Amino acid sequence: MVLVAMMVLAAVAAGKQADEPVKAAEAAHEDAAEAQPEPSAQPEEPAGSGEVQLMEALAGGVAGLSGEAYVEAVPGCREGEVVCLGIALFVGTDDTGPVQKPEWVAEQVAHANEGLAPLGIALELDSVEFLPLEEYHVVSKDDRDRLGEKRWRKGVVNVFVPGKVDNVDEAGEIYGVHWRLRKDVRKRWIIVSSIAWPFTLVHEFGHFFGLSHTRAKGSVMNLKGATPAKDRRYTDGEIESMKKVLSAKLESGELVDRRASPRLEADHGPAAFHDLFEV
Ligand SMILES: [Zn+2]
Repeated sequence: MVLVAMMVLAAVAAGKQADEPVKAAEAAHEDAAEAQPEPSAQPEEPAGSGEVQLMEALAGGVAGLSGEAYVEAVPGCREGEVVCLGIALFVGTDDTGPVQKPEWVAEQVAHANEGLAPLGIALELDSVEFLPLEEYHVVSKDDRDRLGEKRWRKGVVNVFVPGKVDNVDEAGEIYGVHWRLRKDVRKRWIIVSSIAWPFTLVHEFGHFFGLSHTRAKGSVMNLKGATPAKDRRYTDGEIESMKKVLSAKLESGELVDRRASPRLEADHGPAAFHDLFEV
């Protein structure tokens, strides 16, 4: 059935593309309700008049930063976990270095792991790269596109942590957003601002796996519920819906189980996954 679906996908590609922008608009909505920073997490001042100098100072420094501390801070997938997904992490920089510490990233991933555990998913870092200073502040839709346009990689979840992310619908900043490249909506990634609270990544993973916001009590996708954030989870219904999307992403090769990937490649060959649309 999967193979049949794969074969017809190419045939319906044109039709698919026509209705995708609508979905993209739905999926890429602003998490405005999450935009109020916690008192302890006020946004940093953007680089001021010294920006050019700082950019020059960092010109070789971004490439020189090491991602090793991030990889060490985030535990790898454990034995027995069903699906191990890799995160390609892109950390923004300001004049002092990375905009967030390894421990902050580790906490985001830990909450995401906790939320995704009922799906049998565990996350680990696949790679760490640093964004140049000029991408510290993600202002526009073009900026969001630019983050991942040339960096996005198939098979992993691409997560960007810039210094600041503006709301593109109204004034103000947001904590995070699930974003699709507008000219090729098969490519999507998660943007988590450096001012985000610890539960932003797990929330954006909900969007990544097809969820919308909800009023369901206790859901991590409910932005206004009375349930304390640390007690919010995906609901049983959300888990079931996410499982279907996960399966489709694994079948299409958009995501690769890091434990099963040698088997997948042997079965179908990497080329078989080329240019497939999600189902
Ligand atoms: Zn949201």
